[in-house]
Amino acid sequence: MDLKGKRAVVTGAGQGIGRAIALKLAQRGADLIVDDINPQTVKRTAQEVQALGTKAFAVVADVSQRADVEEIVKVALRELGGVDILVNNAGIARSALLLRLKDEQWDEVLNVNLKGIFYCTQLVAPQMIKQRYGKIINISSIYGRIGTIGDANYAASKAGIVGFTKSVARELARYNINVNAIMPGLIDTPLLRGIPDKYLQPMIEDVPLGRVGKPEDIANVVAFLASDDASYMTGAILEVTGGWNM
Ligand code: NAP
Repeated sequence: MDLKGKRAVVTGAGQGIGRAIALKLAQRGADLIVDDINPQTVKRTAQEVQALGTKAFAVVADVSQRADVEEIVKVALRELGGVDILVNNAGIARSALLLRLKDEQWDEVLNVNLKGIFYCTQLVAPQMIKQRYGKIINISSIYGRIGTIGDANYAASKAGIVGFTKSVARELARYNINVNAIMPGLIDTPLLRGIPDKYLQPMIEDVPLGRVGKPEDIANVVAFLASDDASYMTGAILEVTGGWNM
């Protein structure tokens, strides 16, 4: 229970990787604010966390809206008294080949995946600075390093997270705040299931460990980065891919 008494915010926690992260942090003893844009799924995650014996409060908020993120922080302060761990997980894909990519698809993906991380980090950071303690973990993607056909907007947003993570890690280091990012590979979630099988199967065959990842594979690494075992890590970008595209 190395996170006992710690207060965590996880965005996009209604399903997939975010849900697994919320459950893992709760298993380690953390109390949680779980956010999602989807009211049904986020309530379900909060109930699952509570069943593990820690506190959980569901907030329905769109991370790309500053006012919504202000609400997340308000609830965290009111219900938990502060934030020790922020996991910026919410992310979307709106796939199209470059020549067909619409302004709306570009803006939507950049707004959720990148501006959302900016808002959450900027609004949570003052608490962490005040208490001289914080762990910020950003969920990027291996596509942020290698790129991919049909998702230039997504890959650009995930590469942007790398620059953001390293810059904020430098800025906040003096306050004992660690800022790191994870680049997942192919992880079995509704997002991945959106990829047509004829593209997905060859990719899976190319993974040295021979399987897609489980959401828990990412959650385990988040739990490590959220703990004091990782206190000498900042600005690191960890690839959790089963060796895919190493
Ligand atoms: P997912 O199954 O689609 O879950 C993402 C969750 O975020 C959903 O519950 C979604 O709500 C929510 N969400 C979407 N827009 C939001 C917003 N504006 N504000 C708050 N919540 C929002 O995706 P996932 O596979 O778990 O992915 C989680 C993160 O890992 C993402 O950042 C993704 O880019 C990254 N990642 C995933 C993989 C993979 O293979 N799965 C690989 C690399 C990186 P709805 O239910 O309404 O959509």
